[in-house]
This record gives sequence, structure tokens and C-alpha cells, in this order.
Amino acid sequence: MKINRSKESIYQLLAQVPDPEIPVVNIIEMGMIRDVIVTPEKVEVFLCPTYSGCPAMDMIESMVKEKLLASGVLNVLVTLVYKPAWTTDWMNAQTKEKLRAFGIAPPVGKVLSKKSLLANETVACPQCRSENTKIKSMFGSTACKALYTCSDCLEPFDYFKCI
Ligand SMILES: [Zn+2]
Repeated sequence: MKINRSKESIYQLLAQVPDPEIPVVNIIEMGMIRDVIVTPEKVEVFLCPTYSGCPAMDMIESMVKEKLLASGVLNVLVTLVYKPAWTTDWMNAQTKEKLRAFGIAPPVGKVLSKKSLLANETVACPQCRSENTKIKSMFGSTACKALYTCSDCLEPFDYFKCI
């Protein structure tokens, strides 16, 4: 059976795959899809893992396969791309705003060093937008986030670290 799909239709399906950790954004918005190649025999999806060793990666890979298989694409190959490495710069402003609305402070600034993934800029509270915030822990609910607290509204929140 030949695959008769456009690249655009595959992207439309991939846009329905959410990031398992941040369900308000999809894997395209996260910048994880580097390319899609459609041949008569198969659909190959080039997927860039976000944080290396991110435990959600296996889940994302199977979600991509399931989504395409469920829509009748019978031969799906997911190839992981490690170079260039994923960076938070691949999230656009709209995606960052979705993170904020979800209660996660989006990445700001640039990475200072490999050791410190924390921004060199102030992290604003996603609830009240106060910049009067303090870091509590390098690791939040997942390894890719840091835990902050807001000194104004006193709410703890996750900050999506810059890489
Ligand atoms: Zn606050």
C-alpha cells in the first residue's frame, strides 16, 4: 500500500500531539519536529529530544507513531535528531505565552553556563507577573524546570530553564 499524504497533512496530525508534560502546547510548538519526509513507502519524522534524558521522550515517540498509525499511515519511522541540540530558543513568543498561562514561567535570557541552566534575567511570576521572585530549587516538578516562589503572591511556580 502506498502512502499518499502531503507533508502538510502530517504536520497537521503532529500538531495534535501534546507535550506530555505541558499539555497546552504541542510538539511542533515546542520545536521538537525538525523535519518530515514522506515517501510512497513510509513517513519519517525527525524528532529532536528536548532535554537530554528527558523521561517523556519515549512517550512522545510512541504518541507520534500512534497518532499517525491511527490516521491510516501504516509505516512510520521516528528518527531522533541530537544535532543541533534542542534549545528553548525554538519556542516562539506565542508558545512561551501559553506556558505562562499554564502557570509555568517561560525561559528568559541566555544560558550562563552548562552547569547553571538558570537565566541571567529576572524570572517573572506567571500568576501575578511580579519580578520579585526567588529560586527554591534547581529542580521543579521535572528536571527541565526549576522551582521558584513569588515573594508577592507567595505562590510557588515552575520555571522552564533555558538551554
Ligand atoms: Zn506572584
